[in-house]
Amino acid sequence: MDINEQTQAILAYGETCDHCLGRFFGKRSHGLSNDERGRGLKIALALAGNHPYTQFSGTCWVCGNFFESVPLWADRVVEATRGLEFSTFVIGCRVPPLVAENEEMVWSDLSLADPEPFKSEVNREVGKAVSVRIGKKADIKKPEVVMILDPLAGTVEVQVHSVYFYGRYQKFERGIPQTHWDCRACRGRGCEKCNFTGAQYLDSVEELIGRPVIEMFDAENAVLHGAGREDIDARMVGTGRPFILEVVSPKKRSIDLAMLEAEINRTADGRVSVAIKRWADRAEVETLKSNKAHKKYRILVEVDGELSADEFANALKSLNGVTIQQRTPERVAHRRADKIRERKVLDIVFVGEQDGKYLVEVLGEAGLYIKELVSGDSGRTIPSLAEILKRKAHVTSLDVTQVEGAKEGE
Ligand SMILES: [Zn+2]
Ligand SMILES: [Zn+2]
Repeated sequence: MDINEQTQAILAYGETCDHCLGRFFGKRSHGLSNDERGRGLKIALALAGNHPYTQFSGTCWVCGNFFESVPLWADRVVEATRGLEFSTFVIGCRVPPLVAENEEMVWSDLSLADPEPFKSEVNREVGKAVSVRIGKKADIKKPEVVMILDPLAGTVEVQVHSVYFYGRYQKFERGIPQTHWDCRACRGRGCEKCNFTGAQYLDSVEELIGRPVIEMFDAENAVLHGAGREDIDARMVGTGRPFILEVVSPKKRSIDLAMLEAEINRTADGRVSVAIKRWADRAEVETLKSNKAHKKYRILVEVDGELSADEFANALKSLNGVTIQQRTPERVAHRRADKIRERKVLDIVFVGEQDGKYLVEVLGEAGLYIKELVSGDSGRTIPSLAEILKRKAHVTSLDVTQVEGAKEGE
């Protein structure tokens, strides 16, 4: 079949608008829009004497004249995004099943080599019309918002992509979890036990950072992605812990990060503080979370019975550089698989005595359980400080002082 015969065969299905006719050959003859191409095909057919040329005036059997409503859809999109700050967008479309069926039938009946689907033309044409109205660019690769048209429902759904920034946080107060915990009794619904807050702990690092963020970005939520997490009762000081904050569905995006940092630090009131380094993106979150960073801790150790500082320091030395076998600790066994992991004590030093306790600095391979390294966890961690000292030992306070991070270019 030559192209005139194909055109004739398509028109034999029913009245076809220029857009849909041209789209059946959409990936040919670049530089033409589908409706120009469709009109050209009809003219070529008339010139060949096969078909009288008539201006299209009926109802297109493929699309039901969808393309006449492109300006209307562009207006709907503008309306749906009113009040939303963004610079790039992309249009999406839920293709009515009948339209897809119609065009796919022609593709296969006539073995068409290079048709363009309805969806692509809708997204492009409505995108162009929106672009003209709002002076912003359609950007398939990095859209800040996606507007999904639903021709059957006559609606536009707006999906606002999250904004991300990278920083480090310090936590100066013990008893604050990294992220929000639902109340154990009511699972977040609110009950007497949690004073109808739904929370097990009133504040989390995530919420202390997130609240001013939600306000400034006029966002729905803020989610903290940390490079690991410290225990609730541990402080996070020194270098701070790297994190990426995901700002969910923000209405504003052009926030000054220095002002944001100042506002977070003001409202967190010394319980938590942040240093925001730069903007980040979705792809970095996984990298950050899987970051196997070595961590440095400062711990206070209590030992049963009398012990000289020398004896203590010598016991520590025998742990230096040693690979530790750790069965999943009892305290986390309810939420983690029971298995044995091997982690190295990279460095461990005795700093000095403090109120009858021993101050120790440990640099551990990522994933080393520090409390169990000291206590032995009823024989689940081998070797341990308690085992070497042949008496009970445990950590009474723990600070994380250093976590390696991603590249932090200002
Ligand atoms: Zn059509
Ligand atoms: Zn509750």
